[in-house]
Amino acid sequence: MTHDVHIIGGGLAGSEAAWQLGRRGYKVRLSEMRGTGERSPAHQTDALAELVCSNSFRSDDDEKNAVGLLHHEMRQLGSLVMTAAAEAQVPAGSALAVDRDVFSASVEARLAALPNVEVVRERVDALPPSGMTIVATGPLTAEALAGSIGTATGADSLAFFDAIAPIVYHETIDMGVCWMASRWDKGETKDYINCPMNREQYLAFHQGLIDGEKTTFKEWEANTPYFDGCMPIEVMAARGVDTLRFGPMKPVGLDDPRTGRWPYAVVQLRQDNKLGTIWNMVGFQTKLKHAEQVRLFRTIPGLEQAEFARLGGLHRNTFLNSPELLDRQLRLKSAPHVRFAGQITGCEGYVESSAVGLVAGMMAAAELAGRTWTPPPSTTALGALLSHITGDAEASSYQPMNVNFGLFPPLHDVKKKQRKEAYTSRAKADLGAWLGESLLAAV
Ligand SMILES: Cc1cc2nc3c(=O)[nH]c(=O)nc-3n(C[C@H](O)[C@H](O)[C@H](O)COP(=O)(O)OP(=O)(O)OC[C@H]3O[C@@H](n4cnc5c(N)ncnc54)[C@H](O)[C@@H]3O)c2cc1C
Repeated sequence: MTHDVHIIGGGLAGSEAAWQLGRRGYKVRLSEMRGTGERSPAHQTDALAELVCSNSFRSDDDEKNAVGLLHHEMRQLGSLVMTAAAEAQVPAGSALAVDRDVFSASVEARLAALPNVEVVRERVDALPPSGMTIVATGPLTAEALAGSIGTATGADSLAFFDAIAPIVYHETIDMGVCWMASRWDKGETKDYINCPMNREQYLAFHQGLIDGEKTTFKEWEANTPYFDGCMPIEVMAARGVDTLRFGPMKPVGLDDPRTGRWPYAVVQLRQDNKLGTIWNMVGFQTKLKHAEQVRLFRTIPGLEQAEFARLGGLHRNTFLNSPELLDRQLRLKSAPHVRFAGQITGCEGYVESSAVGLVAGMMAAAELAGRTWTPPPSTTALGALLSHITGDAEASSYQPMNVNFGLFPPLHDVKKKQRKEAYTSRAKADLGAWLGESLLAAV
């Protein structure tokens, strides 16, 4: 069968993209390397859309939770993953959890029922030079293809490990304690939020990093190379009590406006999105357990009430510097016949990867129909995530991201307690209007 679109990778994103194209009548070749004797280090089966670890799609609460809202929006757009999840659902309170075998079987059966989707068990080793392509090979993209992608994007723009520093919601930072400044007041703008520490606070914090419980690397991640710029903060702390004060917690050139002096140590936060709603803790990539991170980082002056949009981590993870490399339609700017989808774009998690697969399929379908697909507004979960990936995130510090309300245009006028419901009801209204306007039903 000749095809309209070649999708590489039959994981969550690739399966979802194939469904979106196939049900609109386009011919799809879906290449999946599992089934040929090849497997990534994390996959255990040859099934399409395998869930490699947890069996949960996280919260299904579409009134107070950003990922629950994303479920809702995906259902509105006829998501294969959400349909299969409903069929495979197992009890898990307010979370959406599934029997993973039933889930994958449902995805496979639904794709098999589309005569224009051909699943081919083959490993693809190079980006096709022409023809509409969607690359959805995930965080563990096979080596040869990763090399080919690296050649197309420039090696510096394709990462093989993430080094995630925690991200804090701006509104939860105590600006009565912290202050805005750049080191030595360089530049016209005061770009960093600075959290000051005295000697006692620093020593206690340093000890907390040393003693804190860490997650371990998986066997196949054990040789994780620590690049100079992304060594875990606790590894740096273990090198000596003052190492951090000469590294990411350096106070030099930062006058605390309340004392007129440099503090003993400083934690700096840098803006992480255009909206200014989320800020990342500079140099704080870590393998501390999540609960430990929350406990310890809330001992930092000014972060006592901090809420985290994302906690730190370090994993093997192939992903692109998407804000720089991709256009708003997820196409490689330098080779627009290639579109990326799923976790390789720098979103994180089953749901987000599926969602980006869904929109990639819709974008490709619109392109084949000679139309440009207008993305949903950034007030929706889909729109917010897509905007973040395709340009709104800070490219210089780009790291994988879950969907969260920090990506949404803020609603400052609404009381904090009511804000989550306000975000979700605005999103639902705006998605409804977008669905009406974009004549999606006709595509
Ligand atoms: C160890 C581990 C644990 C994780 N745990 C969780 C979790 O608990 N919860 C969660 O939400 N997320 C988790 N994730 C993240 C999750 O795996 C991803 O978010 C999600 O699977 C990404 O979907 P995807 O479709 O982009 O990639 P994948 O689901 O990985 O699919 C990519 C597919 O491409 C295939 N492929 C790769 N290279 C080639 C090639 N060259 N040719 C042909 N086929 C190829 C692979 O075999 C795979 O089937 C975990 C990731 C890892 C690595």
